[in-house]
Amino acid sequence: MYLGKLFIYSIFVVVRAFTPFSSASSNTAMITMVQSVNIKALTTLASVIRRPYLASPHVFVPTVSGESVRQSGQHFHFFISTHFTACNLFMNTDVNYQALRDHCGVKAVMFDKDNTLTAPYENDLHPRARVGLQAALDVFGRENVAILSNSAGTDDDPGFVDGKEIEEALGIAVIKHSDKKPGGLDEVMQHFPNISDPSQLCMVGDRLLTDVVFGNLHGMLTVHILPLCSGKENRRDNKVAKVVRIIENKIMYGSWWGGRKIRQLTLPHKSWRGEDECPLIISKTMQNDELGEIQ
Ligand SMILES: [Mg+2]
Repeated sequence: MYLGKLFIYSIFVVVRAFTPFSSASSNTAMITMVQSVNIKALTTLASVIRRPYLASPHVFVPTVSGESVRQSGQHFHFFISTHFTACNLFMNTDVNYQALRDHCGVKAVMFDKDNTLTAPYENDLHPRARVGLQAALDVFGRENVAILSNSAGTDDDPGFVDGKEIEEALGIAVIKHSDKKPGGLDEVMQHFPNISDPSQLCMVGDRLLTDVVFGNLHGMLTVHILPLCSGKENRRDNKVAKVVRIIENKIMYGSWWGGRKIRQLTLPHKSWRGEDECPLIISKTMQNDELGEIQ
């Protein structure tokens, strides 16, 4: 870990030496870039290259809320064409939190923050995530739902300023952790005293290499969503994360043999018997005459 930070700092020093920064804002931008580098994800990358199924989620839905998705929509074309071959124009999907609790041994749910519950680096609940978060709260209760973010609650959030603001705005706890996902298990287990085994946790997030790998490494049930925001709403997203996320999703869901092979090797969850035996996705296809109600 120390060597990793030293490596990143070395890059900073070299780039700084050869770049004519003159303003304080430029220096701040560089420091922010170094801070935002996820050392734990980089050190776990070798494991994921050897075992890519570590990044394969148990469940994938468009957003945390039930949401209607145009089949030809830019984000969902590859997703739906690969996994919902019989759908018509629109697909409405929800995570069945009750089945998670009653049939999968899950006792608590953790949500990623950026592009899962909020717009990137914003602290208010995004309107499109409201229904999904409430559904989880209704089933699991406020004390068993929390945010595990790689921005708020980490060392990038000095004084836990963002964390406190988010806790007030969303009404759920933000877990403090030093190691970014896929690290941070110790702090998670300390946060949920009623959890005796990580398989009793569900991790929901938009990133395969952080949220899903974190959950799968520790035997949790993992739910992957596509990023909540796009266009102007997504302007504050981390530039590197934005590119990496596209590559992750293309590799996992793209129409090529490697993606299908990785999906076939998805690690089994200790208590979940699979989507056929225990459906965790509530979905229905909508026809044209229903579209007026949902747009
Ligand atoms: Mg995210």
